[in-house]
Order: sequence, then structure tokens, then C-alpha cells
Amino acid sequence: MNKDKSLKDLKEIVGKEFVSNNAEDLFIYSQDPGVSDPQPVDFVVMPKTVEEIQKIVKLANEEKIPITPMGGGMTLSGLAIPVKGGIVLDMKRMDEIIEINELSRYALIEAGVTTGKLQAYLEEHYPNLEVSIPDAPPSVTVAGNALIHGSGFLSQKHGDHGSMLNGLEVVLPNGEACKLGSCALSNYWFTRGPIPDFIGLFTSSFGTMGIATKLSIKLYPKPNIRDIILGRFEDPKMIPNLLLKITHSEIAEDILLSMQDKPEWMKGFFFIMVYITGDSKEELDSKTKILKNIYRKAKGIDMEFPSKKMKDFFLEKPIFYSTTADFRKGGGFEYVGAMMSLEKIPEAIVSGSKISNKYGIITTIGCRVIGKCHNILFFISYPFNRADPDDVQNARNALEETNVAMLELGGIPWKAELSAQKLILKKIDPNYKMLLKTIRSALDPNGIMNPGNWEVS
Ligand SMILES: Cc1cc2nc3c(=O)[nH]c(=O)nc-3n(C[C@H](O)[C@H](O)[C@H](O)COP(=O)(O)OP(=O)(O)OC[C@H]3O[C@@H](n4cnc5c(N)ncnc54)[C@H](O)[C@@H]3O)c2cc1C
Repeated sequence: MNKDKSLKDLKEIVGKEFVSNNAEDLFIYSQDPGVSDPQPVDFVVMPKTVEEIQKIVKLANEEKIPITPMGGGMTLSGLAIPVKGGIVLDMKRMDEIIEINELSRYALIEAGVTTGKLQAYLEEHYPNLEVSIPDAPPSVTVAGNALIHGSGFLSQKHGDHGSMLNGLEVVLPNGEACKLGSCALSNYWFTRGPIPDFIGLFTSSFGTMGIATKLSIKLYPKPNIRDIILGRFEDPKMIPNLLLKITHSEIAEDILLSMQDKPEWMKGFFFIMVYITGDSKEELDSKTKILKNIYRKAKGIDMEFPSKKMKDFFLEKPIFYSTTADFRKGGGFEYVGAMMSLEKIPEAIVSGSKISNKYGIITTIGCRVIGKCHNILFFISYPFNRADPDDVQNARNALEETNVAMLELGGIPWKAELSAQKLILKKIDPNYKMLLKTIRSALDPNGIMNPGNWEVS
């Protein structure tokens, strides 16, 4: 790569104020808040249009420059850190909300729109509609989250966020723009079928298949009121049956489980948090009654513990895992998320808590139900002091051991960092690997798209 020429060309494409090779900027983009090693970056580029992205991709092919697309850069597992240098393509300038279709209930947006922006826009202009967002900071992008099979407060009812994508516009690794889903032949971005569905190629492939520039994401009717019914219990073996009963009742919006050794009053217990919604107080009261009855019948669930403060906190701001990042000074934080089958959750909890203890990390475990128990997102958080290399390595070892344990239980590490990708590729059906390799080399013969990720030798 001729760096001076590439810099000049990039400035011509996006304008000089939207390209940087300043050491300070490159430093910021070379890392994220997790344990992944920083990697050198050559250029940060912030495009505004699809055409600019097409030109950048064509240039990258000519000069063999790797490109790593980035939304909020907040996966924590290093997925927007360029493993082999090159361009970090920061999508945040492409932040237009193009259309809200109230009848078919979707939002057509550019790929740099953040969850905070879309949520605020809906609240102001379409108060009867909502989008499922993760508990992540509002600076993350809707695209970055949906493209890693993220999940949020509507996932119990409607599945993970990847499955909420109705359509995508992508710039392929050869620089051609391509529409996927109904938008490929209709003005309406309302469904991904009934034509061969290629959107799956772009989810959890971490930018290796191309760059998403626009997407259609499903919206849902927004109920008037929301409440949370808390319960506390001790035996993790109760979990599968309890979750089946609650999801069978069809009354829950979001279902979260949490187990934390800190603060002291949480230690030794599981907390179940079920969000219920309705359009009237009567509806909410009747759902509360049904749910409390399920808790009562399950035996061993305490609904009386001092919960007012906890309830208010979760209703107001259901972001509790981020607070666990403060358990160790130094500001580092990463968690293993693994998609698990319900039957393995009790074992995953025992195993995860043993690993936390072994590494001297305060146990923080959580689960989110996705799609009526079709899938459970299981997570264990490992805060660390980023100023202490031994502590970083300790967290790295704990993460690695957890990934191995979850794979052994039949789970799949989610938003897998490089080392977890290697573990997955080691275990996966060899023909899956061959298919991945065949598709990637056909789409991206120069290997410019986020190389190093999902690398099959
Ligand atoms: C406190 C905290 C809580 C969290 N809670 C949740 C949660 O509840 N649910 C959840 O799902 N996640 C959660 N996360 C994880 C993460 O922050 C989110 O999943 C986040 O939405 C990822 O989006 P992003 O814009 O930061 O993606 P990025 O990190 O920027 O990108 C993710 C991947 O997608 C690729 N990519 C990004 N944009 C494009 C594009 N336009 N085209 C092609 N590829 C692209 C990147 O290369 C990268 O591989 C949490 C994180 C934190 C810190």
C-alpha cells in the first residue's frame, strides 16, 4: 500500500476533514473497552454516501487495504478493531432516518443511525411505535447491533435483532451496491422473502461480507404502560420449568435473570425480572395476577423481599450489567455472551460461577430469554483494571475458559472475539467451514473485508 497516495485518494473521496491518519485519532480507533489487544490503524474514514463507500472499496481493492466497518465500536469483543490494519470505516455520518412506515411497521434508516437517535425520534414523532433496543449505551448503532444478532427488551416476544431485519442495502467487497429483501424489487422494505434470503450472510459475519449502508428494521406497537414483577429464588434448577411456564402464559414482554455477588443483599440468589405491558391498569393487574400465581406455584420464589428500590431502578433504567463494570477499578469490562439452549442453563450457571471464583472475579451472571425460550442469551461479566496487565490477562483467561465451557455445554459464544472465533471454527462442521471459505473468497478475492475475522485457513 502506498500510504501517501491512499491518503490523498481518500481525501478526494470523502473530503479532507473526514479522513484522518493523526496518531491521536488512530490511537482511539485501535482499541475498545474490552480485553482485545490494540491494533495499529492506518486511516479513519467517515463516509457520507453509498457512492463514497463504493469508491473507498474500489480503492481498497486496488491498493489491497483492509477495511473494517464500525458503528458504535462497542461490542467489547474487539470486532471493530482492525486485525490487519488499514481503514476503519466509521459509519456515524450516515445517520439519516429515511422513512417510518406506520402501516407495515418498519424503520428504513442509514447504517450509522444510533439506537439513541431512532428511539428518541420514535418517541417524539411516532409515540405508538417502538423498536427493540439493547441495554448498550445509546451511541451504538442499530446496524452494528442487528448485524451481530444482538437482543433487547422485545426479543422475548419477537426474537433476536438479526431476525428483525427486513432488508439491507450493502456495498459488496467488489464495490457494487446491492439490495437484499423485498427492497430488491419493491419500494417497500417490508420482508426478506420470499426470495433466496442472503441477509443472513451479513449477520454475525462481522463486516467480512461487505458494508451495510441502509437497513429496514421492524417496529412494534407500543403499549401504554409497563411494569416489572420481581422474584427471588435460590435453586438454578428451577429455571427451565419456570421460564417455560411464564412464556406459555404469553404475558411477558422481557424476561431477565440475574445473579450477582455484589451488593451483598443480592448474593446467593437469582432474581427474575419479568416486564409486563398493557394499555390499561386493569390489563396490567390481570397480568400481574397471572404471573404471581405462576411464581407461587413454582414454590421457592420470594416476592416479598425489599424490592421497591430495585423495581424503580429497573423500570427507569434497565441497564444493570454496565454498573457491574465498576466492580474493579480501572474501567475495563468485557462479558462472555453465549447463546444457550434452555436445558443447559442451570449447568452454565454453576460452571460460570466456578470460573468467576477461580479467577477471583465477583460473580455476575445474567440471562435474557429470546423468543419464548427458543434461545437463551447467557452472559458472565468480567470487569478488570486496564492499567494492570496481569489483571487484563486474568480476565482474558476467564473469558477463554468460559467460552470453552459454554461450547462444551452445546452453546455458541455470541459476538465472538478472535480467540472465540477460533474455538468455534475448530468445533464446527468442516463443510460449514468450507462453505464459509468458498463464499468469502468468491465475494472478496483480495481479502479486504475485516481480514483476520472468521479466517479459515
Ligand atoms: C454496557 C453494555 C451493555 C450491553 N448490552 C447489550 C444488550 O443488551 N444487547 C446486545 O445485543 N448487546 C449489548 N451490548 C453489546 C454491544 O454494545 C451492542 O451489541 C452494540 O449494539 C453493538 O453495536 P455497535 O454499533 O457498537 O457495533 P460495532 O462494535 O461498531 O460493530 C459490530 C460488528 O459489526 C460490524 N459492523 C458495524 N457496522 C457495520 C456495517 N454498517 N456494515 C457491516 N458491518 C458492520 C463491525 O465490523 C463489527 O464486526 C452491550 C454493551 C455494553 C457496553
